[in-house]
Amino acid sequence: MNEQIFNRALGAYLGFACGDALGATVEFMSPSQIQTAYGVHKDIIGGGWLALAPGEVTDDTQMSLALGQAIIDHQSWNLQAVADNFLAWLNSNPPDVGNTCRRGIARYRDNGTLIGVPHDDEAGNGACMRNLPVVLATLNRPDYFAQWSLEQARITHHHPLSDAATLALGRMTNLLITGQGVDACLQEAERLISQHSQFAYQPYPGKASAYIVETVQTVLHCFFNSDNFESCLIATVNQGADADTTGALAGMLAGARYGLEQIPERWLGRLDAQVVEKIRGQTDKLLQLAGVL
Ligand code: MN
Ligand code: MN
Repeated sequence: MNEQIFNRALGAYLGFACGDALGATVEFMSPSQIQTAYGVHKDIIGGGWLALAPGEVTDDTQMSLALGQAIIDHQSWNLQAVADNFLAWLNSNPPDVGNTCRRGIARYRDNGTLIGVPHDDEAGNGACMRNLPVVLATLNRPDYFAQWSLEQARITHHHPLSDAATLALGRMTNLLITGQGVDACLQEAERLISQHSQFAYQPYPGKASAYIVETVQTVLHCFFNSDNFESCLIATVNQGADADTTGALAGMLAGARYGLEQIPERWLGRLDAQVVEKIRGQTDKLLQLAGVL
């Protein structure tokens, strides 16, 4: 039982990183540009606008690791430690930083602000994309899940749509990792749409930008209309636009649903080995903290 939970949790985290590395190649491209360049984009080959090495990950995975490390180092929740790790990451000259993330982290650096006032323009996907470590650390503690998720999110993004998506995707991931199946997950998606109808994804509107609504629509459309890990990620990243982040979030859900063994070896083997090692270590420690292992 616990072995299955570990397998699906590790599948979610490594699936997330695979989606990031796979999608980064085609980030900001349109579906037709991708088709012209690659036919169907389905291999981790690096490149893209960031000129990445094959298997290199971007801010999505790096910020998740920064958040996870703060939880592990303190064996609990310490919001300032999370913000400090985000700041250390920003200072490490990362390949990519989202504008809203940069602004929020700079605000913390300059003023010590851990929660910004709500902003209409903070409905990007940057808070939602990095929340997986909180899901893992609170797997058995839903009461902590909401508080920790919203606090980490609002360091950079304070917007009701960002908040709602961060909670909904986190709960979906929890349901899948704990083996409650895709139907429970679908109910959670329907709950999100009943609260914020903007997230409706059927029929699929066809946009995959960093606006949290379009990100979530793309991820849910591809996740619920595929039946294996590989086809879910390929469908997602070939929508282009914010393909590394939609790919990462689709990889998180698909990894949690199908487990580690469905992640293609040609992807896992390509992923930056240091990142794989960090993810393995964090998954183990975060689940221990949750009292699952
Ligand atoms: Mn990215
Ligand atoms: Mn992105």
